[in-house]
Amino acid sequence: DSLSNKIAAGEVVERPASIVKELIENAIDADATDILIEIVEGGMESIRIVDNGHGIPSDQVETAFLRHATSKIQNDRDLFSIRTLGFRGEALPSIASVSTLTVQTSTGTQGVELTLHGGEVIQRQPSSAKKGTSIVIKDLFYNTPARLKYLKTKLTESGHVSDVVNRMALAYPAISFHYTSDGKTILNTTGNDRLLQVVAEVYGRQTASMMVPIEGKSLDYTVSGYVAKPELTRASRQYMSIFINGRYIRNYKLAQAIQQGFHTLLPIGRYPLAIVKIEMDPTLIDVNVHPSKLEVRLSKEEALGDVMTTAIKEVFSQETL
Ligand code: ADP
Ligand code: MG
Repeated sequence: DSLSNKIAAGEVVERPASIVKELIENAIDADATDILIEIVEGGMESIRIVDNGHGIPSDQVETAFLRHATSKIQNDRDLFSIRTLGFRGEALPSIASVSTLTVQTSTGTQGVELTLHGGEVIQRQPSSAKKGTSIVIKDLFYNTPARLKYLKTKLTESGHVSDVVNRMALAYPAISFHYTSDGKTILNTTGNDRLLQVVAEVYGRQTASMMVPIEGKSLDYTVSGYVAKPELTRASRQYMSIFINGRYIRNYKLAQAIQQGFHTLLPIGRYPLAIVKIEMDPTLIDVNVHPSKLEVRLSKEEALGDVMTTAIKEVFSQETL
């Protein structure tokens, strides 16, 4: 019902950036290779996401806006081996319940356009058959004044959106991302599957040229990515990006494992710039901890940390610094 959607919205939809994150995840789960993100006024005025993924069959569009309607998991067992980014079936109903949302989608045969206001369908009509999905969100938090008040300035909100888009682009170098804010291009990636090129787009060419590839492997984990040479340390932890199976995660122990890789090369109070990608059996990771899916629980966390630390130590022992 609409109340429980609004309650869920409180957890899933904190601000424009959380909407952008959920919608990009949906596009990726739909195998999109091209994703457009347009925000106006930090997303408070409007958010538009267009993808070229497989679309939603026209007879299932309404269902996608029902709570816990997910096409991604079928049973309990799936829940313990999650390969998709979404699985809770909460994002669309939650977002729709606190906004005016228009979705246009097609699987390639017939398209449909649906508009919802406060979660209620107010319009349905046929539309372009071009394969893919586009979603426009306006009037965000119009019916939840407390949330609306909690939003910060346009600059703060667009900054959060940029963080989300940057991480998604780093996580998926094979996907082409186009991101604009108030009509201005902020990020453009080619989708040619070269992580270092995305690093250059996100952090600048100069920085990218100072990064070295890392590689590590154990029975359970494959670790890859790039770390910046120690002279490029940062004053903040937030430049350590960790991705597990394509999902950006926050984990204190794993961040420490990165720092340990730098050993004595890291001055006190300074943190590395690092992009670390971990591939592992999804049954070893529990992402169903919080609706935001940002925190994960890992079995054998320490073993993974060791693989990461070793991978980083190796490049710096080879390099003459
Ligand atoms: P979840 O991603 O957890 O399944 P959502 O509420 O985010 O739940 O989406 C509900 C359903 O709508 C998805 O399971 C999927 O079937 C469909 N869907 C949403 N966005 C897209 C998209 N961009 N392309 C194709 N299908 C989508
Ligand atoms: Mg989703």
